[in-house]
Amino acid sequence: MRKDRQHFYIGGSWVKPSTDRRIEVISPNTGEVIGSVPEGVEADIDLAVARAQKALREPHGWSCWSREDRAAALERLAAELDRRSDDMAHTVSWQNGVPIAFTGLTEGGYPQIVLRYYAGLIRTLAQEEERPGVLGRPVRVQKVPVGVVGAIIPWNAPQGLGAMKYAPALAAGCTIVLKPSPETVFDAYLLAEAAEAANLPPGVVNIVPGGREAGAHLVAHPGTDKIAFTGSPEAGRIVGETCGRLLKPVTLELGGKSAAIILDDADLDLAKIGEDLFRATLLNNGQVCYLGTRILAPRSRYAEVVDLFTTLASSLKVGDSLDETTRLGPLVSARQRDRVEGYIAQGKIGGARVTTGGGRPEGLDAGWFVEATVFADVDNRDVIAREEIFGPVLSIIGYGDDDDAIAIANDSEFGLGGTVWTSDRDRGIAVARRVQSGNVGINYFMPDPAAPFGGIKASGLGKELGPEGLDAYFKTKSIFL
Ligand code: NAD
Repeated sequence: MRKDRQHFYIGGSWVKPSTDRRIEVISPNTGEVIGSVPEGVEADIDLAVARAQKALREPHGWSCWSREDRAAALERLAAELDRRSDDMAHTVSWQNGVPIAFTGLTEGGYPQIVLRYYAGLIRTLAQEEERPGVLGRPVRVQKVPVGVVGAIIPWNAPQGLGAMKYAPALAAGCTIVLKPSPETVFDAYLLAEAAEAANLPPGVVNIVPGGREAGAHLVAHPGTDKIAFTGSPEAGRIVGETCGRLLKPVTLELGGKSAAIILDDADLDLAKIGEDLFRATLLNNGQVCYLGTRILAPRSRYAEVVDLFTTLASSLKVGDSLDETTRLGPLVSARQRDRVEGYIAQGKIGGARVTTGGGRPEGLDAGWFVEATVFADVDNRDVIAREEIFGPVLSIIGYGDDDDAIAIANDSEFGLGGTVWTSDRDRGIAVARRVQSGNVGINYFMPDPAAPFGGIKASGLGKELGPEGLDAYFKTKSIFL
């Protein structure tokens, strides 16, 4: 059923857009237009930032609320999101093509987990402490909310990634202007409704869907005090440049090309490890930044590893993202499908061997479907091993010993995720320690709200989640007594 929205949620009200520009949302399952929302432009962003500033700074404004009151408000928001959980998962899958079996977890449930985690954390955190000082006088150290946060999110997991920004920001006492990606806008309206129903004060959460111009305006806006960005490395560099020029704090969560290192003692029984392996390499139709899309296979077991991934990829049920049994849905857009197909073509031309997939699945001509594709005999210098494809495409690269595997894993522009597959936990941890990446999993990968998440090298700057993710929304002030 088609949906249409006419307003933005700004300053606690549903306000009319400043222009009649619209964003059309296209179903990745069918290629048809399924709805539209107003497109935010500079004037809409200006209004949202002004309302966020007011909510932050007015007498008794959000930044003055007690930690307990803020925690309770976060929990009310989580409860309202619980009520909308199924609708949220459905709305995201409907727009971005990610199978509903996964959005139920990442979009319908994860935001509430993150909100409740930060509600708990802010209750126990001392925002001000007195230290003895070494010059004979005490020092008071305060954590002060950084101010108005401009949050920019992509389409692949909009609510999960949004919560990683707004939950710690609100917990810290910041207010927020959230700019969703044009591909996923309707879920942001559910979030706005939840914020309204949770009685968050007007202006604490403001939501303006828009494109990159609206995003760039939010980044450069003199009224935003910090930018939290998740998206492509290309856009991240531009955002980082602007923030550098303005000396504005910024967190950048960007792309990846992580390695899944299969050690020679790994248990390769698909019945046992299949689900974890799938989640670490092919989840969300391959559209997750941290996935291990470079599979590093020991030469001693190379054929076995190729068989394993070929079986895994070819067994995924492909279909409509709203079907509970679907494991691989369509890519988000025709542009994304073209991009992924371009990489598959480059892999073939480069001489890598397709062991499964490589084309479009039969009988699904209307949407943006691409088969899960496995390339064997890939060299780490090949384009398909170096660039982020952001689709269901895996490259299997052979290695000699553990040192060789680690060297290949680290020979990448990126450093976001990665996994080590082994039957020896200590050996896995030893290898994980040497992988140059912000996050590594042993026989498993799933960002935990209690642990800092974020990349190094071209994968980003700063951390989200964990106490570190909360710290990113404070500035520190010392008072000498
Ligand atoms: P994108 O960079 O094109 O867009 C992301 C968001 O940034 C959108 O809201 C977009 O409108 C906005 N934007 C684009 N250019 C901008 C600019 N110059 N100034 C301000 N805002 C701008 O990325 P995408 O295609 O939507 O998302 C896919 C990318 O996101 C992949 O590279 C993926 O790896 C990355 N990603 C990273 C993480 C992470 O946590 N590291 C998580 C998910 C996705």
